[in-house]
Amino acid sequence: AAKEAGKNHYVLFDLDSHHSRKERIRVIEQMGAALAQDELELYYQPKIHFGRRQVEGFEALLRWNHPEDGVLGPGHFLDHIEYTEYACKVGNFVLEEAIARLRDFHSRNLPYSISVNLSPSHFLGPGFREDLERALCDCPAEIRSRLILEVLETTALDDTDRVLEHLAACRELGVDVSLDDFGTGYSSLDLFRRLTAQEIKIDRSFVTDMLTNPDSEMIVSAIVSLSKSFRRRLLAEGIESAEAEARLIELGCDLGQGFFYSKPMPLAPALEWAACFDWESRRDRSA
Ligand code: C2E
Ligand code: MG
Ligand code: MG
Ligand code: MG
Repeated sequence: AAKEAGKNHYVLFDLDSHHSRKERIRVIEQMGAALAQDELELYYQPKIHFGRRQVEGFEALLRWNHPEDGVLGPGHFLDHIEYTEYACKVGNFVLEEAIARLRDFHSRNLPYSISVNLSPSHFLGPGFREDLERALCDCPAEIRSRLILEVLETTALDDTDRVLEHLAACRELGVDVSLDDFGTGYSSLDLFRRLTAQEIKIDRSFVTDMLTNPDSEMIVSAIVSLSKSFRRRLLAEGIESAEAEARLIELGCDLGQGFFYSKPMPLAPALEWAACFDWESRRDRSA
């Protein structure tokens, strides 16, 4: 029976990789048209500042309004285009779009920041600094300072010299960096010191487990102390309940994000949501 199962497993695995190869080819074939026909859209998920009890800004999360398949999340296509020419093209689209929104916010006196996710191959690639400079061209300092670039902790571990060089470029260009999914990448303390990110974003897995698993809470607590010692701003992602929020505030997190407040939304509803946000009634919105 074990042999049977093993055999079935093998067949399934092979089919899976066959499907994912076909899926990958399809995504790459369609991505050019998706860019040209404006099928990519940024959704916005609010980030809440605990001390000020206000919406601090949004994380921009990519969606593909696919002509046949409907709205696709990044899990359906981003990995497929990583290390193809589209990684940078899509990355630049996201950067330019976020900066255009920050300009709008500025002209409408809306004080929000926007966090943008960078793919590993874009951030580590040779064209990154130039792409960022071009996207920020003519952008005044007060707009630049509202842009936050999210780099995965695992990316930061990949090619340390390149990472440190590109972090320095971000600093020179007046843009903040956040280490995303922090805690999953095993940064050494020395590397943590050298990674001059202004913000640390605790991975959702710890936030989810924290209430039932003391080990996860200990990890969150350790990340809080580390961030405080190095004067980094700390954001917890994946907050889904009042209990999680209360614990994270108690531990000393500065900001929170998660379905408890809101799912990611298209721009207009996100701005409406933020305009109506009221700390006291935030629990009512979680349903
Ligand atoms: P991430 O940057 O860690 O983003 C958080 C993800 O968790 C988002 O999924 C968000 O919708 C989801 N999320 C937020 N709050 C909660 C919660 O309370 N519970 C649960 N279960 N999930 C929550 P999404 O939008 O599917 O994005 C997945 C990942 O795709 C992102 O993880 C990010 O790494 C990547 N991504 C998204 N947009 C972009 C982009 O424009 N460029 C690049 N390079 N990567 C992107
Ligand atoms: Mg992120
Ligand atoms: Mg994350
Ligand atoms: Mg993530």
